[in-house]
Amino acid sequence: MRAAILYEPGEPLRVEEVEVDPPQAGEVAVRMAASGVCHSDLHVVDGIHPHPRPAILGHEGAGVVEAVGPGVTGIAAGDHVILSWLPHCGRCRFCVAGRPNVCESLAWSDAGLMMDGTTRFHRDGVAIHHSTTSSFGERTVVPAQTAIPIDPSLPLAEMALMGCAVMTAFGAVLNTASVRPGDSVAVVGCGGVGLNIVQAAAVAGAGTIVAVDPSPAKHDLAREMGATRACSPEEAAESVRVDHSFEAVGPLATIELAITLVGRGGQAILVGMAPPDARPSFDALSLTMDEKAIRGCWYGSCRPQADFPMLVSLYRAGRLRLDPLIQRCGLDDVNAAFDRMRRGEAVRSVIVY
Ligand SMILES: [Zn+2]
Ligand SMILES: [Zn+2]
Repeated sequence: MRAAILYEPGEPLRVEEVEVDPPQAGEVAVRMAASGVCHSDLHVVDGIHPHPRPAILGHEGAGVVEAVGPGVTGIAAGDHVILSWLPHCGRCRFCVAGRPNVCESLAWSDAGLMMDGTTRFHRDGVAIHHSTTSSFGERTVVPAQTAIPIDPSLPLAEMALMGCAVMTAFGAVLNTASVRPGDSVAVVGCGGVGLNIVQAAAVAGAGTIVAVDPSPAKHDLAREMGATRACSPEEAAESVRVDHSFEAVGPLATIELAITLVGRGGQAILVGMAPPDARPSFDALSLTMDEKAIRGCWYGSCRPQADFPMLVSLYRAGRLRLDPLIQRCGLDDVNAAFDRMRRGEAVRSVIVY
């Protein structure tokens, strides 16, 4: 198959031929239909977050199961699936307590390997690492539990976004923050995740939804997705204070802005991936006296087997719209898609295979 491979951070991905092994015990092989290009991948490509190399990145995908490995039940060749990027062990205290997103037994996945400590991707005898999903290739092999079957009538290019941006955003609003009808919300950063947070806040019944982004072009889109107001970061720092403030990008400046926007009794939810050395400063006394909170949010506090069907149901009801956010492209355009992201232009580039 053809796949986009990361060899060195700071260099473009190289689209090359890769050999794919058949699925082993507990795994499924998937022919990818589409893959979103997410900001977290850009952080790896730019060397901000390390990942074992060479590697096939991409963690936001949907496709069709081609084959299942030994012992796999409940999923079969021909099934259409959304891929979750977060496997879980099912046995640790977090999994058992309903928080598989913070499962503590994933060293193999962090190492870019499958559960047995090997890879299914090779090129000229060299092992190529996974990124759990590895959706920047025409085919992938993933742990069976991360492939969630969906109705085959659903459009796979849009379903791909469910795997990261949409799950992260809706999960941040509904699971992590528990936004309630009438609450006020601010969203710092209006990319693929931020605009879906706007949309999720509208689904949750938030009364005020302020979209914050330096780009005026994003303001119109944010209003279309349900924002009641859109403004620049400077204007927000001056005049916006809310119950729930979401940071959806990652840099230090936007983290500090999100904390600044929290009103009395409110909370900041940090969704974007901060650089490893980010040490935000904030007014600690107001945290105490106004009983504010700062919370992290990993993958929307999701339980994929329960939450993906919830997202699909909202989509079917027309309450979760994805088409306005998508810019379709091919695998060979993956580096151009990252460039658009660096310039703050694209909302969500989706590679369609
Ligand atoms: Zn992502
Ligand atoms: Zn676990």
